[in-house]
Amino acid sequence: MSGAVSSGAIRKVGVVGAGTMGAGIAAQVANAGVPVVLLDIVPAGANDRSVLAKSAVEKLRKAEPAAFMHDGAAKLIETGNLDDDLGKLADCDWIIEAVLERLDVKQALYHRLQAVRRPGTAISSNTSTIALKWLTQGMGEAFRRDFLITHFFNPPRYMRLMELVAGADTDPGLADRVASFADRALGKSVVRCNDSPGFIANRLGIYWLQCALVEAIDQGLTVEEADAIVGPPMGIPKTGVFGLMDLVGIDLGPQVNASMRDRDVPLIGRMIEQGLTGRKGKGGFYRMDRSGGGRAMMAIDLRTGEYRAERKPVLPELERGAEDLRALLSAPGKAGTYAFRVLGQTIAYAATLIPEAAASVADIDEAMRLGYAWRWGPFELADRVGAGWLAERLAAHGMAVPKLLADAADKRFYRVASGQRQCLGLDGEYHDVHRAPGVFLLDDVKAAAKPVLKNASAALWDIGDGVACFEFTSKSNALDDKIIELLGKTIEVVRTSFKALVIYNEGSNFSLGANLGLALFAANIAAWGEIEKLIAAGQQTYKALKYAPFPVVAAPAGMALGGGCEIVLHADAVQAHAETYLGLVECGVGLVPGWGGCGEMLARWRAEPKLPRGPMPAPAKVFETISTADVSKSAHQAMEKKFLRLTDGITMNRDRLLADAKLRALSLVDGYTPPKPPEFVLPGPGGKAALNAAASGFHRRGIATDHDLIVADALAEVLTGGDTDIIDTVNEQQVMDLERKAFMRLARTAPTLARIEYTLETGKPLRN
Ligand code: NAD
Repeated sequence: MSGAVSSGAIRKVGVVGAGTMGAGIAAQVANAGVPVVLLDIVPAGANDRSVLAKSAVEKLRKAEPAAFMHDGAAKLIETGNLDDDLGKLADCDWIIEAVLERLDVKQALYHRLQAVRRPGTAISSNTSTIALKWLTQGMGEAFRRDFLITHFFNPPRYMRLMELVAGADTDPGLADRVASFADRALGKSVVRCNDSPGFIANRLGIYWLQCALVEAIDQGLTVEEADAIVGPPMGIPKTGVFGLMDLVGIDLGPQVNASMRDRDVPLIGRMIEQGLTGRKGKGGFYRMDRSGGGRAMMAIDLRTGEYRAERKPVLPELERGAEDLRALLSAPGKAGTYAFRVLGQTIAYAATLIPEAAASVADIDEAMRLGYAWRWGPFELADRVGAGWLAERLAAHGMAVPKLLADAADKRFYRVASGQRQCLGLDGEYHDVHRAPGVFLLDDVKAAAKPVLKNASAALWDIGDGVACFEFTSKSNALDDKIIELLGKTIEVVRTSFKALVIYNEGSNFSLGANLGLALFAANIAAWGEIEKLIAAGQQTYKALKYAPFPVVAAPAGMALGGGCEIVLHADAVQAHAETYLGLVECGVGLVPGWGGCGEMLARWRAEPKLPRGPMPAPAKVFETISTADVSKSAHQAMEKKFLRLTDGITMNRDRLLADAKLRALSLVDGYTPPKPPEFVLPGPGGKAALNAAASGFHRRGIATDHDLIVADALAEVLTGGDTDIIDTVNEQQVMDLERKAFMRLARTAPTLARIEYTLETGKPLRN
């Protein structure tokens, strides 16, 4: 598959320790197309001496969210045990130790690894707390030269951060090779940390959790109130702090934090004693009560340690959300005090980590964004409220103001100077924010330039070398009439002034599809003409994009659904992030794909050599994919489902996607000719009857609802070519016309509108 990533000098990897982290890391190496050996100990009395590694792979196969990006990946993992198979590590270029967090166990293992590995093979530890100088104590020089720490986050496939610590004796070239492999092949953002326990993300993250816990107790807040304050308003995931502690395990906190803990919280000790260690235990700060057959969420009372029913917090201070963080931090009363004390102390602590743990504020921000899923790092948050304002308030509250924060008092931590992003250093000067070579971000382009075209929902940027980049800028990147309009103008501008076009954005999702809110509004006022006009305009614009006289490369990442998937289907080539979830999900809201998705999928399946000949197999395949609103769980899987072609490219590192897409676009420029329009031979009414019969089978078994049958019928009509005769050929425009008619027919039905309304309100499908 074209997803295999060239791995430089690292062609085979060994992982020792097949627990949560070792297994997950091995899976990600396999996802990159690189063979990996996974070893663990021989458990006492085991029949199968490699049972630990083998059962780890079985668990990976069933993991949710999925650990493997495609079925073939599991086959790249060779399992074994440390007693019989140590020799299998001899030809590995990188050996990752991920055994339990004990210095003596790790060091004993290092001596054994030393005996089998080739000189120059990198050995790294995945330790989350132990400093490198302790791990290498008493080890020989040859070991120290090839040893480093590579700290992945859980789950290793999805968490983008990898912290890297190289020791004073580590060969810099070897550390660079490991960093480059982790970056390009494994898709990780590598943040270099200095050799101090806990590195960057956990050091600050655990300080922050501890602070949030202690302050909640001191200010008399409930866990729900605390989570609501230290959650979305600060750009932190909805799980908040107590939800996060439940997720990682409450017992891990004190252990990881032993060296940093300045205050004992007796409640935590009691909870651990009672097995209340979080989601993996009998409950945590939150607990699902299933007594009496029901399901009720409970929350712990921080004063008494007793559970009570969960209560939605009532906090008017939060109404302005993240937009006005300063207002929240200065609000009178316990919510404002809590917000200020937690964030103020966390930012102040972060400022003390340079230079001991981190080289720059940018590294700390990156570590928190990618390791803890914060939307903004601590220094970006400081810039949001104003560093000077924050420093003043800290001082007024008798809290320490570290030098870096005091230095920033009349400045910002970040600025853009002559097009270059810079951050403030400990020396009080600005330094360029370092990007690895080949990392290219639209965000940097945007900070330094004005758009070529722009309206309220989209923009066009010049990304250099004759390539333009079309960006969705609407809320959640929902597609609307303005995007279609700007896309139309873009085609003209690129034709005259550029060589190629890339469609890309840096939102968390490429696009969830058309703006359903607008569609529902139009339907409610019976503006059917407007809706049909938008469908027709989308069809014509996507078609114009496909046949434009320049190459178009789509570069999706995250979800690309509905109309967001259809624009990808119309591109000449796709460069997708490995974590791209593509799907034509229109049936879920009672519609059919309306912007050419049906024809594009028909053409792809018709070209599949493994499919039997004749007019029926392709429509049957497409019907299966679209009627079930099937979404790929990775870019690799999207190839199996034909949302991507085998010739499309996959980029593992999100930050390299734009550079790869641009290269791909440039590679298509010389001698470019637009594709030839497809012609279809479709089965007509007989085929439609067969597809409907299949849907009725699902209906009889209770899998499909009444309205599913109506939607399936409309879809079948499009995919089989309507009233066509089997001997006629059907062209692309005719399939689009059928699509548009089916879409409009369904849009006028009450159950479809009920589905749209429900999905808008809940984000879930309505099974009516
Ligand atoms: P785990 O308990 O899930 O797995 C540890 C593995 O080590 C087990 O499979 C066990 O059989 C094996 N093991 C036990 N004794 C051994 C020995 N004497 N020799 C070799 N192997 C032995 O632990 P984990 O969560 O995967 O953590 C592994 C490492 O990764 C630890 O250093 C931990 O601090 C670190 N880490 C964990 C996380 C996390 O979220 N769990 C995150 C980052 C780093």
